[in-house]
Amino acid sequence: MPDQPTYRRVLLKASGEALMGGQGFGIDVSVVDRIAADIVEARKLGVEVAVVIGGGNIFRGVAVASKGGDRVTGDHMGMLATVINSLALRTSLVKMGVDAVVLSAIAMPELCESFSQRQATAYMDAGKVVIFAGGTGNPFFTTDSAAALRAAEIGADALFKGTQVDGVYSADPKKDPNAERYDRLGHAEVIQQGLTIMDTAAIALARENHIPIIVFSIHEEHGFSAILRGNGRYTVVSDE
Ligand code: UDP
Repeated sequence: MPDQPTYRRVLLKASGEALMGGQGFGIDVSVVDRIAADIVEARKLGVEVAVVIGGGNIFRGVAVASKGGDRVTGDHMGMLATVINSLALRTSLVKMGVDAVVLSAIAMPELCESFSQRQATAYMDAGKVVIFAGGTGNPFFTTDSAAALRAAEIGADALFKGTQVDGVYSADPKKDPNAERYDRLGHAEVIQQGLTIMDTAAIALARENHIPIIVFSIHEEHGFSAILRGNGRYTVVSDE
């Protein structure tokens, strides 16, 4: 018998970079399958799961802007990258027998459905895994902000932020061996100390809506479902 899950409805945010594995660009299907398998385990616990995936493995708007290009067009390209990643995750989930749907912030009806809050919550109530593509649909935002926004819209009990490491540290533990790891922090502390787990807009939105952020390693096999079972290694960002 699995332990009783702590959360009823959660949103998982994975960066696009997480999907590329060791490739340096694009999508490593074995990595997408591993993340999908973890989501399947979460669903088996009875937890309702929504997902936001970034696009950094394919394209980032700032990359265009830094070379003197048009930022808005670059961001449009970045948002399209998130749609590609979302379709890859849906494919993996469906292959594993889980009903999953992609809802895009930018209408592209030939590829997937468009986002609406009512449709999203209806699908979640029906037990589907809902993947939010296209970020917020606006340039100058990030998929972290999209994750906090969608988490608030669907009434998620927690936002799971999958990162490169197993929690929040005072400095990058891959560069600084003296970096301190936190088990628990307040939203305000994260903002004040400039800890770069998510952008400030995302943390502020989560804070205003009383949504705890669970920071864990996206590279840990079964890492997401283990936390939902009450185990695993993570940092909780919460003011409660
Ligand atoms: N993006 C955007 N608006 C959004 C979300 C994303 O313009 O609401 C664009 C932006 O160019 C960003 C890219 O999509 O660089 C990929 O998203 P992000 O950098 O958040 O992906 P991640 O770092 O999580 O892979």
